[in-house]
Amino acid sequence: MPSIGGIHHVTAVAGDPQENLDFYAGELGLRLVKRSVNQDDPTTYHLFYADREGRPGTDLTFFPFPDGRRGRTGAGIVGEVAFQVRPDSLDYWSDRLRGPDSEADVKQRGERFGDPVLTFSGPHGLDLAIVETEQATEREWTAWERSPVPEQHQLRGFHAVRARETSLEGTQTLVTDVLGMEHVGEDGSWHRYAGTDPASGYLELRAAPQAQRARGGRGTVHHVAWRAGDESDEKRLREAVADHGLNPTDVIDRFWFRSVYFREPGGVLFELATEEPGFTADEPLESLGERLVLPPWLEDDRDEIENVLADLELPYPTSQEA
Ligand code: ZN
Repeated sequence: MPSIGGIHHVTAVAGDPQENLDFYAGELGLRLVKRSVNQDDPTTYHLFYADREGRPGTDLTFFPFPDGRRGRTGAGIVGEVAFQVRPDSLDYWSDRLRGPDSEADVKQRGERFGDPVLTFSGPHGLDLAIVETEQATEREWTAWERSPVPEQHQLRGFHAVRARETSLEGTQTLVTDVLGMEHVGEDGSWHRYAGTDPASGYLELRAAPQAQRARGGRGTVHHVAWRAGDESDEKRLREAVADHGLNPTDVIDRFWFRSVYFREPGGVLFELATEEPGFTADEPLESLGERLVLPPWLEDDRDEIENVLADLELPYPTSQEA
């Protein structure tokens, strides 16, 4: 039976797209690796941020809805997305995110599972964290040379997604018995689960029986996608999820990967996503994210779509300017 590798990508809901771009590419220093539209609402953007190569395990994506309703974290949603950095990077990040031009709202420094952590939220309310760990030096990751953040301190992909749930039992059984994750530790009331490649990010869960139910919207995570290997691995995982009594969608072609969605017993929307073909399937690596990319069935409407979407300005030089 195939097991999931770790986090593939995380998708959240944001507000204004330029503010989103300025924060995640300009302040956090990620690369915009894909500029596309929400396939369910092509008049709005879908923006993808990752390492230089757009690797699974580093990719945070957003649906920006400038007039969208504010969401609320609580039980049954990913309430925080944590990135990892190399040791001796948190002072840099603490200074950067507390700086006069920063759009971050810094919360606190502490420790988790023995590693130093800095928690903060982004401009539209998404809760984020940066964890300093030796593991960050071991993972597959490529620095982004046009990033405003120096290479040694760059965010090196996900460390974990954290969710609170009214009861852990159903989710725990699903992730260990069906998705092949392993329960690898406890820190206070938090439980940590790892896939076959722990460096690409953990799932961390905490039971919160009294917690208010989350409500999706601006500033919250929409779903977390797990690395599901190739297409045949994904099919077998999909069948296992169905056999477990859940309702996975058919395999959906997202061009950069193939996707299956289902809601886990605690309420979090999970996706299975293949490693291939990746973000260079429809544009060259050198200029990823610089132009609007549309799925083929929307190409005929490109002029109309471009007219509706606000222009975006990259906070770093383009491949032409660099
Ligand atoms: Zn997704």
